[in-house]
Amino acid sequence: MQVTHQVSDDMLAGYAAGTLPEAFNIVIATHLTLCPAALERLRLFQDLGGVLIEETEPVALAPGSLESTLARLIAEEPPAPAPPAPVLSCDILPEPLSAAVGGDIAAVRWRPIGMGARQAIIPTTGPATLRLLRIPGGAALPDHGHSGTEMTLVLQGAYCDGADVYARGDLEIADEATEHTPTAEPGPACICVVAAHGRLRFSGLLPRLAQPFIRI
Ligand code: ZN
Repeated sequence: MQVTHQVSDDMLAGYAAGTLPEAFNIVIATHLTLCPAALERLRLFQDLGGVLIEETEPVALAPGSLESTLARLIAEEPPAPAPPAPVLSCDILPEPLSAAVGGDIAAVRWRPIGMGARQAIIPTTGPATLRLLRIPGGAALPDHGHSGTEMTLVLQGAYCDGADVYARGDLEIADEATEHTPTAEPGPACICVVAAHGRLRFSGLLPRLAQPFIRI
């Protein structure tokens, strides 16, 4: 499996620093179980964070300690690289997400939201919402904009957005400047997990009327 759309640097830095709402943390943690390259980038951020902490906390040195520290560093073998963490998951809902749902896909309590699509809202703390979406193959979501950041991770099937195709493990980030009509590829239903900050802005009348009922 080749993940072609990875989490952005700023979101990954926020995840590493622990400053994101829980809904975004769950989506990024799930993305990391499906994308070894993104996991490697996270390790670089964590290493960088460790170096910054060391550099911003000066300590008083005892006489001669600098020399002894340098001598120890020179004598020590370079640390072995950490073994790669197990990252592949065959479950439709990998571990960080299945823990939030309370099981794999069979445990999801879907609710219809129209045109054959279904959703399940996953309770989280913080200002962002988390939901699973199931879109039938070939069906489109209503054209919409955003009043905040929206992060979508594909778990099954695929969807296209403009010229880009997103498949399992791919992550798309939309914001206030994004207006789009994601459309599931023909074939099996596309299942995604979506974290969103703020409400969607629909251009069509019917989705706007339905919005209070489906809590998007
Ligand atoms: Zn969107």
